[in-house]
Order: sequence, then structure tokens, then C-alpha cells
Amino acid sequence: MDVFENVKKQLDRIKKIASLNDNEMQILLSPKRIIQVNFPVKMDKGIKRFHGYRVQYNDARGPVKGGIRFSQNVDLGEVKSLAFWMALKCAVVDIPYGGAKGGVEVDVHDFSERELENLSRAYIRAIYDVIGPTKDIPAPDMYTTPRIMAWMLDEYEKIKGEHLPGVITGKPIEIGGSAGREYSTSQGGAVILKEYLKGKNPEDLTVAVQGFGNVGSFIAKILHQWRYNVVAVSDSRIGLYDKNGLNVDAILKHKEKTGSLLGFKAKEITNSELLELDVDVLVPAALENQITKDVADNLKAKLILELANGPTTPEADVVLEKRKIPVIPDILANAGGVTVSYFEWVQNQYGYYWTEEEVLDKLGRIMVKSLNDVRKVAQEYNTTLRNGAFILAIKRILAAEQLRGNLELL
Ligand code: NAD
Repeated sequence: MDVFENVKKQLDRIKKIASLNDNEMQILLSPKRIIQVNFPVKMDKGIKRFHGYRVQYNDARGPVKGGIRFSQNVDLGEVKSLAFWMALKCAVVDIPYGGAKGGVEVDVHDFSERELENLSRAYIRAIYDVIGPTKDIPAPDMYTTPRIMAWMLDEYEKIKGEHLPGVITGKPIEIGGSAGREYSTSQGGAVILKEYLKGKNPEDLTVAVQGFGNVGSFIAKILHQWRYNVVAVSDSRIGLYDKNGLNVDAILKHKEKTGSLLGFKAKEITNSELLELDVDVLVPAALENQITKDVADNLKAKLILELANGPTTPEADVVLEKRKIPVIPDILANAGGVTVSYFEWVQNQYGYYWTEEEVLDKLGRIMVKSLNDVRKVAQEYNTTLRNGAFILAIKRILAAEQLRGNLELL
């Protein structure tokens, strides 16, 4: 299925609610630049070729920004959609970036360290001329890590012959990363959840988290620390459930030791069972298109906090709206990552670094303000938080397009 069909359906809804005209729709539906690359990588046994993408969707508000994904499911529709959502996300939290995304069609599970390094460097050699600190700034996404960002930065700087740490974010702290970046997506989501549920006692609230990678494991850890009752977590192979609350710290240790959730002593559940658990908060933190119409029909959660990108299909959204199950949408809920990436880039440009407390304080303010901005627009248009976030972001992007002379002033 082409994920970009979801973007078209989302935009169709917004067109009606916010009365967008054809010129505005054309801008929103057309990525500015699509780069496709084929490149060789030295593997432990021989040379293999890989196919990758970089989509620079819209740069009206600033240089484009977005992660790089290593996954066998990567295709152009997915990368285009993720780049579009990045443009909206940066506009929702009002940071001066446009949106981009990159990806390589590859399953890196069985790669040796050397192969992973060679792949990361080769991808940068393939796209180096379209990225740069004032053009396009990549970051980590699924199956890419700070270690990989370090190799990518090093390759870029070798080609350019100078230090340019602002070309990529999500780097290790030792080479220009920001304090707090590693868990910033989850921290931002947790701040928003706390604000949304203000007045409720976390100990009375149950949470299920799908995905136990960077985002899933940190949100489980933070919410557990904040005394929410995390009753279920899962990775691609298995889900774990305890109605009285899981020992998240023990699960994190087990994952660190064994690399997966398999073998941890708790009731095993499937990913579909996890999505339909009777919990207060469901946090999809793995892949897109997990909450389908069927799942939405059977879902029992009272609130959804979308930390994955695009986890809910547009058809499921309609069902959730009818069933009055609120969704804190991805472009708001998971924007903490790109916000701290922005802080990292600012620190790189200045060569002056902030403490973790400063980063978390600035992040918290932006997340709370953005939730309130989105709520205001949603109320104004009498619509959902997702539509509110879309309208807020789209208006900001279109205002920049108008000021640049790309759209007529109405
Ligand atoms: P990651 O590679 O660290 O983790 C992905 C997790 O998803 C793993 O635990 C994996 O086992 C699990 N998974 C894969 N297939 C699954 C399946 N079919 N069912 C259940 N779980 C499955 O990736 P991440 O960085 O944590 O990203 C997760 C999501 O969050 C993605 O949608 C990503 O785009 C989004 N996101 C990430 C960031 C960030 O800063 N890393 C920022 C914003 C949004």
C-alpha cells in the first residue's frame, strides 16, 4: 500500500475544513525535490548495491530537516509521506525548518559493525551534495542510531574538508550532540501527555506501548519513573503484559543484555492484542498503519498518544472520531525529537553548549505551548486535535510561501 495515499486523504479532509484553494493544495501535495540513489557498499563478502531516497518536501520556513531510515519496507511513498509530516511537525512546534526524510531499502539486522559503517558512509557519499547545515539536515530514525550519525558526519566532513557538525543531528555528545537528544522524542511526548491529563493521578492510569526501540523504550521508562502504570510493551517479535504494571527497569536491562524482549518473564501477548487492551493510554511507537479501521473498531484505550509517525490510517481516524477517542497526533506528540535536534543545530552553529536542564526546560515550554496552540485551533474549527495540528501547520507553511511570493495574497 502506498503510504502517500494517507497524506492525500488527510489533506482532502483539511481542504474541506479549512477551505484551502487549488493553488494551496498543489503546494501541499508536491514535494519540492525527490532524490533517488543507487550505490555500492563493501560488505564482508563482496560488494552489494543498495537503493535509497532523500525527499526534500517543503523549505518555505527554512532548511529541510528529517531522519534517515534503514528498513526493508522503505519506498518512495513512505519517504514522501514522512517528509511531508516533518514539514508539518516543524511548523506545529514553530521551529524554522522545512521537512525532509531519507531512507535506504535494507534489512540491517544481520549486518556486521563494519558493514553498517560502510553502508552509512556510502549513503552519505551518494547524497552529500544535496545536504548541508543550511540546506538539509538529517537525523536518526528507524534502525539508525547516534553511532550511525557519527559515521555519517565524519564522511560528510571528510568530503567537505571542514568541521560542519550542524549537517546532522542526533549525534553522540562527544562530537557535537545535544544533552537530552537521545530521549527527547519520548520526553516531549511524556510532557504533552502529562499536560493533557493534568489533574489526574498517574498511578491511576494504565499505559500500553507498542514498539521498544528508541522511542518506545524511553517513553516506557519515563512514564514508569513518573509513576504511570505501564502494563504492556512490545517489539516486532513479542508483547509483554502485566495488569498490575510491568517492571520497566528490569525489561530495559533484559533488552540491553539480549537485544530483545523474548525470554522476559511476563505474560506474552501479540501486537494486535496489545493494541486492543483496555488501558487509559495507548502509545503506538513502532511503525505506520498499525491502527487500522478494524483495530479502531475494537480498540478499548481511552486516549492515543502517537509517538510513531503515521500509526493511524485515515479510515481509522474517522472511526476514532466517531467513537470520541481522542488522539494526540504524531506531528505534535513526537515533535520533541526534532525540537531538540533544532537545539543541537543551534548549539553547533554557535559552538556553545547547553546543560541537560536547559534543554529539558526549553523543550517542555515548546511542547506545552504547541499543545495549547493546537487545542486552540481545534476548538476554533470544532474539530479533532489531528485536524487542528494540520491546520495550524499548513497555515504557517502557506504564510511563508505567500511571503516568498509563491502564492498570491488572498
Ligand atoms: P527504532 O528502530 O529504535 O525502534 C523501532 C521499534 O519498533 C523496535 O522495537 C522494533 O522491534 C519495533 N517494531 C518493528 N516492527 C514492529 C511491528 N510489526 N510490531 C511491533 N513493533 C515493531 O525506531 P524509533 O526511532 O524508536 O522509531 C519508532 C517510531 O517513532 C517510528 O515511526 C519513527 O519514525 C518515530 N519517530 C522517531 C523519532 C526519533 O527521534 N527516533 C522521532 C519522531 C518519530
